Amino acid sequence: MAGEIEVDLLIAGAGPAGMTAALVASLQGLDVLLCEKSGQVGGTGSTSAGTLWIPGNHQSRKAGFHDSAEKAEEYLDALIGSSVNRDLRTAFLKTGPVAIDYLEDNTDVKFSPCGRHPDYRSNMKGAAIAGRAIIPQPFDGRLLGADFARVRPPIREYMVLGGMMVGKADIAPLVGRFESFANFKHAAGLLLRYFFDRIRYPRGTRLVMGNALAGRLFLSLRERGVEIKFDAPIVEVVRENGCVVGATIEVEGKRVSVKTRKGVVLATGGCGHNRRLREAFMPSPVPIHSLSSEFNQGDGLAIGERLGARIAPEEHGHAGLWTPASVTTRADGTKGLYPHIILDRAKPGLIAVDATGQRFVNEAVSYHDFVEAMFEANAKAKSIPCYLICDAAFIEKYGLGVVYPGMRDLSGLVKSEYLKRDETLEGLAVKIGVDAQGLRKTVARHNDFARTGVDIDFGKGETELNRFNGDDDHKPNPCIGPLATPPYYAVEIWPADIAISTGLSTDADARVLDQDRQVIPGLYACGNDMASPMSGSYPGPGTTLGPGMVFAYRAAMHAAGKDPLDAARNSVMNSSWS
Ligand SMILES: Cc1cc2nc3c(=O)[nH]c(=O)nc-3n(C[C@H](O)[C@H](O)[C@H](O)COP(=O)(O)OP(=O)(O)OC[C@H]3O[C@@H](n4cnc5c(N)ncnc54)[C@H](O)[C@@H]3O)c2cc1C
Repeated sequence: MAGEIEVDLLIAGAGPAGMTAALVASLQGLDVLLCEKSGQVGGTGSTSAGTLWIPGNHQSRKAGFHDSAEKAEEYLDALIGSSVNRDLRTAFLKTGPVAIDYLEDNTDVKFSPCGRHPDYRSNMKGAAIAGRAIIPQPFDGRLLGADFARVRPPIREYMVLGGMMVGKADIAPLVGRFESFANFKHAAGLLLRYFFDRIRYPRGTRLVMGNALAGRLFLSLRERGVEIKFDAPIVEVVRENGCVVGATIEVEGKRVSVKTRKGVVLATGGCGHNRRLREAFMPSPVPIHSLSSEFNQGDGLAIGERLGARIAPEEHGHAGLWTPASVTTRADGTKGLYPHIILDRAKPGLIAVDATGQRFVNEAVSYHDFVEAMFEANAKAKSIPCYLICDAAFIEKYGLGVVYPGMRDLSGLVKSEYLKRDETLEGLAVKIGVDAQGLRKTVARHNDFARTGVDIDFGKGETELNRFNGDDDHKPNPCIGPLATPPYYAVEIWPADIAISTGLSTDADARVLDQDRQVIPGLYACGNDMASPMSGSYPGPGTTLGPGMVFAYRAAMHAAGKDPLDAARNSVMNSSWS
């Protein structure tokens, strides 16, 4: 061992979960060390949309959207079943609004209500159309000074002009910049700021979504003087007489022992890049693509396993929280993944087909449900990969994957084979290896649905969620339109995980449980290292970051010996030591 450090609490992993745990523990007076395997903070969270699902949150209530934990509990009971993980879900629902208020009151982590943002099974009992989702407020990366370089950037496919972040609210003003003065002003403001940024910084400093969340958490940690060790993975946790008493981390290639008085929090982001765990817990065929940070190699789960922890759920097939993704080839020749989360699938004039050229899903369901349908359909006809198909009018108006609306020159994307294009549906079918007659018949049938507005096969456009992501101006159904203007386009779609639901089994204070479901004293897990309380379901926008940050808060409060529901008493402003 190269040396020894002693702290109250060691937190491993500087994603949203680990940073939240470190911040709350520090605010509660604990002496904290945060160790991070990479050279940057943010993890997968930095590349995320940054939405948190927090039923009953006060930010939405103030904006006039009323919701309650009880109603959300009804929804989760209907979706997941009332006997599975209910204690964890109840703790999550009770603590969510308190944890968010606590962060807002004591740190730079601030949120805005999303307003209308339907739950993903919006037709189920207890589902909400608005009020449950919150997003981090945009953040000025310049506030971090030189530390701005320590924030992991978003995925390249989510930035425009080589480094400008675009939030959902920016898309319409940018696309329709000449349609109104307000749009023009918004777009010009973004572009001007970006061009000035690029004189001094390698990318734009106006951070939104998950990057804003990471920036806000990081700034708050810096302001409190919390020590972060970079390039410093946790490699082992030490247990004596049943209790966790420390850990081994690696710093600059040397092993350092860390003694802990209150324990260790595992927040290493789950097992997105751990082949053994993917094969053990994911459905077949085991997906080859993951949008998880490449540093998330299952270290936390492996450490837990070695200490006899239980991994849940045990059943094969529920590990992934999914998105459909297309594979891009970037200008420098590297490969990227574009997650088809909300922008194209629900719009009118797009279908998804399997190898027989037939539809197998309502294309406008949530990203998670879309991929679940790919797995289910694949048992009957090959739908991994499947293809999103549209025509020239669609791609011009709505874009498709990395094609943004109004993009003029698609030849590069056709040349790199990201897009397949043909003047006829039959020709397109041949290019993508799909049954040509099947595709022709499917499009003809779908075009009839476009006329009537009723998708009698899959009900596209029937739920609030479908319509939310559709085009309100398109009639009679905002999600169904004809494919009739050649040339036709196709993009290949694969399942990819954005998060993992299999993880270390914990109690409601995020304390890791062993095979006999007994607490391992001093060992906590949160974020994707903790088995998702949603048991493989994806109820709404923010299903992983919401519980991830709430259980991180609960873990830190438990380690500090505080009541997590008593945020007012625990508030730094009111405490005697602050
Ligand atoms: C495109 C996209 C959009 C998404 N949008 C949303 C959304 O809007 N809402 C939502 O809820 N979820 C979303 N997600 C999922 C969400 O980003 C993740 O679930 C979340 O980031 C998990 O948080 P975490 O802190 O557990 O892990 P991460 O954010 O991945 O952070 C883990 C950290 O641990 C570090 N680490 C790994 N191993 C070690 C080790 N041995 N020692 C120390 N450190 C280690 C990693 O380097 C990393 O920094 C999205 C994901 C993607 C890809």
